[in-house]
Amino acid sequence: MRISSASATDQGLRRSTNEDNFAVREDLKLFVVADGMGGHAAGEVASQAVVEGIVAFVEATRAMSPDQTWPTQFDPELSVNANRLRAGFQMGNRRLAAQIASSSDLRGMATTAVAMLIDGGSATLAHVGDSRVYRLRDGQLERLTRDHSWVEEQIRLGALSETAARQHPWRNIVTRALSGSDDLEVDIQEVALQSGDRLLLCSDGLFTVLSDGQISEVLRRETDLDHLCHALIQGANDGGGPDNVTAVVLELYAV
Ligand code: CA
Repeated sequence: MRISSASATDQGLRRSTNEDNFAVREDLKLFVVADGMGGHAAGEVASQAVVEGIVAFVEATRAMSPDQTWPTQFDPELSVNANRLRAGFQMGNRRLAAQIASSSDLRGMATTAVAMLIDGGSATLAHVGDSRVYRLRDGQLERLTRDHSWVEEQIRLGALSETAARQHPWRNIVTRALSGSDDLEVDIQEVALQSGDRLLLCSDGLFTVLSDGQISEVLRRETDLDHLCHALIQGANDGGGPDNVTAVVLELYAV
């Protein structure tokens, strides 16, 4: 499968800094989005540390096999790529812990992260928090990740609608994040890919403003991926865009 990608990030209308970070590494077939939180500049530090930790680990393990020595316990029930991503998240989390230990200004910082590692016709997805992956296939948009957030829990309980969740004052409350603590739990899944699929990784600054229907409309309409990313960011800003917003888009072609 051949991959084309594009990305864009913006601080949004009511923020003076951008706490989102992302990585596009077509050479590794690795794509990451992280959304940091914490006072002062700590959110930026957190998301950057985790993105760099994930990328560095995936890069260092290009040729890793199950019988080698892994920095974290190898889980034989998961694929090699799933183990790489899971360990990459743990390495990113350790970077956070080290930075928090070295500076009291960074105490309390944390970040979400979502990562996708592609291998032929399948992708491994890993995520913690409320940054998302969507897939557009045959004109239909599907969200592939389940947010670790307070509003998502309320939607599942039937206590909130998707529309109400986007406007809820607690829409930014995540129930899981990378914070440097030892009890990190990463959701991992494998998804099949098809030629023509478009995939979107994004921070909550996008989907708390744009509905899935609006995101789908942009993904179906735009033929140029750079235009597509900028249309998504513009859509979030036009909708009031209070938060940082990041979009990474991929398109897959059979070779
Ligand atoms: Ca955010």
